[in-house]
Amino acid sequence: MPAWVGARYRAWMAKLSPALAAELVAKARAVRQHAYVAASGFRVGAAVLGGSGAVHVGCNVENASYGLTLCAERAAVCAAIAAGERELRAVAVVTGLRHPARPCGACRQVLAEFAPAHGDLAVLLAGTGKQVARTTLARLLPDRFTFADVHKGRG
Ligand SMILES: [Zn+2]
Repeated sequence: MPAWVGARYRAWMAKLSPALAAELVAKARAVRQHAYVAASGFRVGAAVLGGSGAVHVGCNVENASYGLTLCAERAAVCAAIAAGERELRAVAVVTGLRHPARPCGACRQVLAEFAPAHGDLAVLLAGTGKQVARTTLARLLPDRFTFADVHKGRG
């Protein structure tokens, strides 16, 4: 875990109660049914917990022009931002795999954009079973690229 992940993050993680984690996973599991998976049949549901405490969901949306396919995680992030959120606290991702899958690289970068400034984003991963893997965005995307890097490079 990076040095910048400090006491605030640990305090936040302690607040992500089992009940709240279960709610996020349940909402991600429920929204999977709406996935538009004309190409792959691989349904994914995601739920993000905004800084306001509200939960926003998204599912994957495929396209005949494959490169335009949108992952569930990014769909959930867009729903959260459209609802006025600017900071995300946690994300749950559910697939139809037996063992939990992890977010792709693009989604990790998009989630990082809205991670708490002095903390981290809790990541909950579930498949068809009852097992829920718990990790953090800092573990999935260490040394992330941010607007701080962009601003340093201006001029
Ligand atoms: Zn993705």
